[in-house]
Amino acid sequence: MARRRQIYEGKAKILYEGPEPGTLIQYFKDDATAFNAQKRGTINGKGVLNNRISEHVFTMLGNIGVPHHFIRRLNMREQLIRQVEIVPIEVVVRNVAAGSLTKRLGVEEGTQLPRTLIEYCYKDDALGDPLVAEEHIACFNWCTQEELHDIQDMAIRINDFMSGMFAAVGIRLVDFKLEFGRHYDGDFSRIILADEISPDGCRLWDMATGEKMDKDRFRRDLGGEVEAYQEVARRLGLMPENEETAILDLDSHRKKKS
Ligand code: C5P
Repeated sequence: MARRRQIYEGKAKILYEGPEPGTLIQYFKDDATAFNAQKRGTINGKGVLNNRISEHVFTMLGNIGVPHHFIRRLNMREQLIRQVEIVPIEVVVRNVAAGSLTKRLGVEEGTQLPRTLIEYCYKDDALGDPLVAEEHIACFNWCTQEELHDIQDMAIRINDFMSGMFAAVGIRLVDFKLEFGRHYDGDFSRIILADEISPDGCRLWDMATGEKMDKDRFRRDLGGEVEAYQEVARRLGLMPENEETAILDLDSHRKKKS
């Protein structure tokens, strides 16, 4: 079989040319980076878990009408996606103070924010993805005003949905990062959700214990990264032992039910 053409390699993912025009294959690596790639490591099995978690979240968001690039999962580490022109902005949505917000403004970690905060970073590794204002986005035309409105509307909807989804399984959605892209249909383009949604780009805290269940375990050398990602997948019902269909013996299934 001919080798697939690689389109792009990022810190945690590789994009290959897809089987049909306008599609790509998104491959999830086990590589982990933090602090603008100054810290590097491998979390064995992370790619498999992120592929599955992201599939689930995108599918659920699609069900409530959020347009996105995900088409279907192909195997343990790959998913088929729609090709988009990525908007060079990282959209960070915050419900609780953590991470760079606490450092920048001296707010104590864990402080519940009085309203959802949306921040924007310009996607540029060499510059360290600097925080920018809406005025910068307009001034440098990284996206149009209309596109930014669509992005803001979607970010709020996604936050509302995901906050509920995680709360239902005892997880507090502290903050997360989104990326959007332009999907072209002829000359017409519309903004859709792209990239991935996984514990790599979200802060997820156990509601009962406050324990971190996300990439902060790697950033802060807490250990237990893969166990934490696995626990997120398990609570979302994505691990095999949670699947009712795994029960082949009807009798034991009935007993379990009663
Ligand atoms: O580091 P900071 O506090 O700004 O991150 C906010 C949220 O955005 C975190 O959930 C983090 O995982 C995510 N993020 C990301 N990729 C970046 C920057 C932040 O996924 N380049």
